[in-house]
Formats: sequence, structure tokens, C-alpha cells
Amino acid sequence: MSEKEYIHTVTINKKRCIGCTRCLRVCPTKALRIRNGKAIILQDRCIDCGECIRVCPQKAIYSKIDDLDIINNYKHKLLVYSSVLIGQFKKYKNFKKILNLMSYLGFDEIVGVDIGALIISDVIRSFLKHNRDKTYITTNCPAVVRLIQVKYPSLIDNMLPFKNMMDVAGEYLKKEYMKKNQVKEKNIGLFYLSPCPSKAQAVYQPEGEVKRIFDGVFSMEEVYNNLRYIMEKKDIHLDKDIELENVTESSLKWSTLGDVDSQFKDFTSLRIDGIDNVIEFLEEIEEGDFKEIDLVDMYSCQNGCVGGVFTNENPFVCEHRIRHIASSFPDSVDEIPPICEGDYCSLSKPLKPRPVEPIDKNMSNAVKKMKEIEEVFKKLPKLNCSICGSPTCYNLAEDIVLNEDVSIYDCPVVLRRNLRNMAKDLFEMAGRIDPIEEKKDKE
Ligand code: SF4
Ligand code: SF4
Repeated sequence: MSEKEYIHTVTINKKRCIGCTRCLRVCPTKALRIRNGKAIILQDRCIDCGECIRVCPQKAIYSKIDDLDIINNYKHKLLVYSSVLIGQFKKYKNFKKILNLMSYLGFDEIVGVDIGALIISDVIRSFLKHNRDKTYITTNCPAVVRLIQVKYPSLIDNMLPFKNMMDVAGEYLKKEYMKKNQVKEKNIGLFYLSPCPSKAQAVYQPEGEVKRIFDGVFSMEEVYNNLRYIMEKKDIHLDKDIELENVTESSLKWSTLGDVDSQFKDFTSLRIDGIDNVIEFLEEIEEGDFKEIDLVDMYSCQNGCVGGVFTNENPFVCEHRIRHIASSFPDSVDEIPPICEGDYCSLSKPLKPRPVEPIDKNMSNAVKKMKEIEEVFKKLPKLNCSICGSPTCYNLAEDIVLNEDVSIYDCPVVLRRNLRNMAKDLFEMAGRIDPIEEKKDKE
């Protein structure tokens, strides 16, 4: 696969779309347009953040991911679940019993992504001890990683050169299972239970990796509904706890709430959540601010992963439950699982910028087109209303110069202005008709 072929899970059902433009206004990378009355996604700009899914009143935008049935293609079925799952249930105090119900869905072994948080935090701490030259950014939120690749390539070097906690948890689970059960890798299906489209996309195309780590990904919403069905309809008694090893209070809080402070007490660290806050913060880091901050853990969703598009529960309620559950775990474990022996936790290849399509590959043509864009932009009203089908007036100017299907008359303000001028001209012209000629015409 070439670097330019991006896989996306966020998809539009054109039959449902009514062209209302709400999705255009929230997209952080200006990846959406309305053409012929329907929304389309510009593939090179989309970062699969899912913000458009959240606001679409027609449910026309969705994330296309795997069905649970695919686990049947494998003899051994393993699942890494986003630990946000444990805050989704009203009977949350029974979370170890609820997790045990995963066996009814067919999984042989499961772990929470918090195991990845525990392992990778140790690696990050030793890295930061020797690297205090800049503000480092975690790789935990794939939408943030892609946002940096697309819009802030100068900050690529600020990204930690390590796998995110989901991938580390996946590597850990698979290796432990193979060792314990003497099973060959080809017989194992490793899956991820995702709280958002961005992590789902990262399963299909992990940044900084040469091959996929997971064999499939499911939405938390789907699995939550399945578990509720099992609990309610199948007369199951919640009587058996699942064994949870290697969980600490701080790893659980970091992996679910982005509570980075508790995990990196010897460093200055911050959590930033919500795509607008992330963008503002990235711009400030780019300008050289915040050098005193060692580590920033950024999440595109408001409230972090508890606010993911695939979650069912109110994020504040979910956070409250998780804090309660986390307080029942110890502050540390005797020994951190040894997955990072060798170099398993490092990215397999460096992260690279992911630029959007250039204006023109030829430099002088690109300069010419830039000037044309500026000229067109001057004629537009700068209202950024999106009615034309492009997110801002500047985007419309770009689209007019770079895309033959779009015209300046797609802007209703320009169209009205021109029609008014034409009407005025016609009126004036009508007034100039020679009265003798007019009389002749009538005769
Ligand atoms: S929000 Fe976007 S995808 Fe949804 S109906 Fe409106 S234009 Fe169509
Ligand atoms: S997923 Fe995010 S980046 Fe992609 S089109 Fe939707 S809002 Fe824009």
C-alpha cells in the first residue's frame, strides 16, 4: 500500500444525507463538502475523528467496521477492550462479573487496554528522564496523531516514538496467550473493542507500524448492547468474577480518563481534550510556548475516551464510575509485565507527515494558482456560512480554482449580487430604448 492510500472507517450514506451542512462546520480538517446536495469526504484530509458523526441529524455518517461474527474465522479469539467499557454499565460495581460475560460472545481471553498503559508508562518515564528538550505528545489518540501529520507536520518530532497503549496491550495479550497455551500465531484472532472511529481506523492502518497488530475491531456500542441482551434475556446470573491482574489505580485512570498526572508524577504533564482545545494547544506549542511542560496527553474527544462516539453512557457519569472502580486497585504492581524487553514498545517506523494534495506539483503553476485563489477569495463575502457547500469562503475559493465543478455562483451572496446588478443593467437598458423604435415595434 502506498503512503497515499488512506483507509477510512468514517463513511457517508448518501441516501440519508439532506445536505444540511452541519458536518462541514465541525470538521477540524475541512474534509467535507456538499456536492450535488450530498456530503462527500475528501479522503486525504479526513482524520477519522468522528466529529461529523456526532452532529449529523440524519445519522447519515457512520463508521464502517467489523461485525462480531468475524471472530469465528479464528480458533483462538482474544480481545483487548478499551477500559472505558467498565464505566458503561449501571451495575458497575459488578464490572468483573460483567467482563466475564465476554466468554458468551466467544472470546477465550480478554484484557483491558490499561495493561498497555502500565507497560508503556515505564518506557515513557525512562525516555523523558533523558529527553527534556521539548514538550512531548503521546500517541494514544490516533485522531491527534493524524491531525499532526496532516496539519502540524512541524510537530512530528514532538510525538513520542512509542506505540500507543492499545497496540502494546495487543502485543502483550497475544504473546502471553501463545506462551501459556503453546498456540501458533496463525490460529489466533486478536481484536480490539473501540470507543471511537479513530481507534478503529488505527486498527486497519496503524501509523508508525509496518503491519497490522489486530485482526479486527468492534464498536463498544455493539458489544455493550450484546452484553445487555445476554444479561437480560438469557437469565444469566452474575456470579463469577474475571481475574484481573496487573491493573493499578493510575494505569486504569490514565487509559480511560487521560489522567496522565497520576502516572507521571516526576514530570510536568497535562491532559488536553476536545478537538478545538487540541488545535489551540498544538498551535501554541508550534509557536514555542509551554517549554516547561514535559508531556501532553491529547484526545480529540471531549472528556477523552469516555466521550468517544461509540460509547453509550454520559461521559461524566462514566468518569465518576471509573474513578470509583480505580480506587479499588493498588497503586503499583510488584513487577511490570516484561513486554518491552527488546524493542516491542517502539514504533516500527518513524511517523511521517501526511500532506493533503498539493495545489500543483509544478512550483510555478502552484504559485499561479495561489494567486488565483487569493483573487477569487477577494470577491467572496467572508461570511463562512457553508451554504455554498464548502466549509469556509477560502475553501470555496480553493475549490473553484482546483475543481472544475464548482463556480463562484455557488455562493448565494455573489449570485444575488450579480443578479441584482444584471437586473439593474436590464432596467437601465430598457429605459434607453428609442420611443420611436418602440412604437414601430408595437405596430
Ligand atoms: S450533517 Fe452532513 S451528512 Fe448529515 S445530513 Fe447534514 S450534510 Fe448530510
Ligand atoms: S471524521 Fe473528522 S476529519 Fe473526517 S470528515 Fe468527519 S469530522 Fe472531518
